[in-house]
Amino acid sequence: MDAILSIMFTFSRRLFRIIPRPIRMVTTVSGVRIIGSVYRTRSRKLYTVNRESARRLVHDRIHHFMQHYGPRHSITVGKVAIRNQKSRWGSCSKKGNLNFNYKLVFLPPEIRDYVIVHEVCHIKEFNHAREFWDLVAETVPDYRELRKRLRGMR
Ligand SMILES: [Zn+2]
Repeated sequence: MDAILSIMFTFSRRLFRIIPRPIRMVTTVSGVRIIGSVYRTRSRKLYTVNRESARRLVHDRIHHFMQHYGPRHSITVGKVAIRNQKSRWGSCSKKGNLNFNYKLVFLPPEIRDYVIVHEVCHIKEFNHAREFWDLVAETVPDYRELRKRLRGMR
């Protein structure tokens, strides 16, 4: 699913060019605009657009996975924040608040879902013990492979 993307587009009457670079994947998700690549979001406006796309996406997917984890494991999600983080895709606080990197919008859907499920499961299991991974595997059975692919995407 690797792809090379080259796009020119206008945004606020200015012409932007995405310089072709090999990137892992560009996805289009209905209702979610994905602009640029993970390497090319220096513009503040583009960042805002992508961050808002990430917000909608993350909220949708949390809602989806909570239909599983909510009733079965009494998990409740606290606040969800989308940030421009340098080194992390997501994190979970002891209070059950979740942070996600806005660059999630650039990841293939299955890897994105893995990141989201990973943080949701930390609300119940605040560790990486066996019980945690069993919880992840309930909705993402191939998490091992996805985790490996994610490591190559910094
Ligand atoms: Zn973790």
